[in-house]
Amino acid sequence: MPETTQAETPPTSPTASGWCHWHKGVGEDVRVTQVVEAGSGPGAKLSACARCRARRNLVPFADQP
Ligand SMILES: [Zn+2]
Repeated sequence: MPETTQAETPPTSPTASGWCHWHKGVGEDVRVTQVVEAGSGPGAKLSACARCRARRNLVPFADQP
């Protein structure tokens, strides 16, 4: 049995980088903090990096009630 390598990316990677809508740039640990419901069509998702979440007290959408 070969050792399991990083074949698949875990869904909640702690260091996932992505686009942060708050500082309009690429940040680390980007999470969706807000989903703006549009009248018709897909809603807009606003993602924030860890730094912006801490600065603005943003709660990740998945952690909201
Ligand atoms: Zn940011």
